[in-house]
Amino acid sequence: MLKVLKFGGSSLADSSQFAKVKRIVESDDAREVVIVSAPGKRTKEDNKITDLLYLIHAHIKYGVSYDGVLSMIKDRFIEIKEGCGLNIDIESILDDTFSKVNKKTSVDFLASRGEYFSARLMAEYLGYEFVDAVDWLSFDFNGKVNAEKSEEKLRALKSKYGRIVTPGFYGAMANGNVRVFPRGGSDITGALAAAYLGADVYENWTDVSGILMVDPRIVKDPKTIARVTYDELRELSYMGASVLHEDTVFPVRIRDIPVNIRNTNDPDDPGTIIREHFDDELEEETERFITGIAGKRNFSIISIYKSRIGEEKLGLLREVLEVFADYEVPVEQIPSGVDSFSVVFPSESIRNRKEELMHELSEFESIDNCTLTEGISLIAIVGRQMAYRTGISGKIFKTLGENKINIRTIEQGADEINIMVGVYDDDFEKAIRLLYESFAKK
Ligand code: ASP
Repeated sequence: MLKVLKFGGSSLADSSQFAKVKRIVESDDAREVVIVSAPGKRTKEDNKITDLLYLIHAHIKYGVSYDGVLSMIKDRFIEIKEGCGLNIDIESILDDTFSKVNKKTSVDFLASRGEYFSARLMAEYLGYEFVDAVDWLSFDFNGKVNAEKSEEKLRALKSKYGRIVTPGFYGAMANGNVRVFPRGGSDITGALAAAYLGADVYENWTDVSGILMVDPRIVKDPKTIARVTYDELRELSYMGASVLHEDTVFPVRIRDIPVNIRNTNDPDDPGTIIREHFDDELEEETERFITGIAGKRNFSIISIYKSRIGEEKLGLLREVLEVFADYEVPVEQIPSGVDSFSVVFPSESIRNRKEELMHELSEFESIDNCTLTEGISLIAIVGRQMAYRTGISGKIFKTLGENKINIRTIEQGADEINIMVGVYDDDFEKAIRLLYESFAKK
């Protein structure tokens, strides 16, 4: 059994967070490979080390002293060293690094140092071998990770040392120069390491107990989603839920390695498991039907009417959609009736061109009438258990109807894992709360 763990910035913000990480790693012998971020914020007002490093680069560019920023960075790492009782001479490592920094130092190199120092400290603390990311994670010149080379190198290092700590976020180009991933990229490093080593699970340790069923700003203390598929995750994140981006975990997804989102501050919580599909279904999930609810505000509906539209409907629909395409409006839904159809889209996409678009549509001879309704919210009720099961939409409509919430649009995806309803913005939060109560509070 091999577990690859990635710890995010808030899990490494200071020595007390480092201590939590150590306890987590030591509580399970299979936790052999640890990827670390740079220390993040200790409080809301605090700075992330990576932000400070980018700030240093900006200071150098404009030729201003960065002593103040540098001492903030040093203090953070020295506090971790001392708080954890480590012997590593991090002071000299920091001094040595920054004494060599000058105008020619690349922004990627500077930005990567947070992860580097963090990994050096963590390696000693855990008694694991420090393996620098430049020694295994290789980028080609086009900026893509060279998977073959990286896998071979990491596998060799892992078999040599057994238990390792390696920094996230960066790797090396063929000429040895450091290159970083986009911000938040330690998640990618973790997923790559888990994939290359054929881990049994990729544990992504953060400061929340997994993915929540619904936005906690709308519902207080919502339940965590125990298990979610990538398809469900995509539906939920598309509709605004802030969850791990699927692209970051692509390497583990294609090798069918489960991703487990865990909370460093609540390690007993099993968190959320993400997989392509689950062979068995838990009773609780089957009874609940839904996995999560997400939603977005500020949509508009343009409804087109033509009496006895009949066979012309297809042609008219095509012409209308061409107008939307010309305006570069991302069409979300196209609900239709016998003599009408509607187009649902984000209001923002026609912000200054509302009248123009309506005018253009009203010029169509084949249209009797067209109307614009603004202030619509779309709510997605998502769940793999919903597919081919009866009564779910009934329950949704009953819940909303009984509470006098008018449903403006209805849509169900072909795979039946998603039902989307459009309601007025004023009803948005109330609708989400009611749906959550009726499905989740079992
Ligand atoms: N430290 C980097 C950032 O703040 C990468 C990461 O934490 O994933 O974006």
